[in-house]
Amino acid sequence: MSECIFCKIINKEIPSQVIFEDEHVLAFKDINPVAPVHLLVVPKKHRESLNDIDVTDEAWLGHILIVAKKLAQELGIADSGYRVVNNCGDDGGQVVKHLHFHVIGGQPLGVKIC
Ligand code: C5P
Repeated sequence: MSECIFCKIINKEIPSQVIFEDEHVLAFKDINPVAPVHLLVVPKKHRESLNDIDVTDEAWLGHILIVAKKLAQELGIADSGYRVVNNCGDDGGQVVKHLHFHVIGGQPLGVKIC
């Protein structure tokens, strides 16, 4: 059985506040939100980080961005703007080693480093 916390969330072994689910992705509320809207969009396939994807992952990877946009629209943050963030590896600040994309918005987001 996987020790990965996001695999456990995907498998419903531990609870989360699910916002959206389909065959490829789960989107749920971050337990430690940094803004009024803070979701994580997570592939159901375990990939440790962006470093571990290849061309066979293209379809669901593109799908994640489509889902991120759709949820931003549904949650009413699309027009004012939002961020989709992927932290990759230690220097990128990645804590949970299961690829995920933060969708953050609902207020001006402050410091931009790029
Ligand atoms: O990109 P990074 O790996 O730092 O982000 C991990 C995120 O997962 C954090 O924002 C943390 O609050 C969130 N998290 C969560 N539910 C858990 C464990 C972590 O929402 N059970």
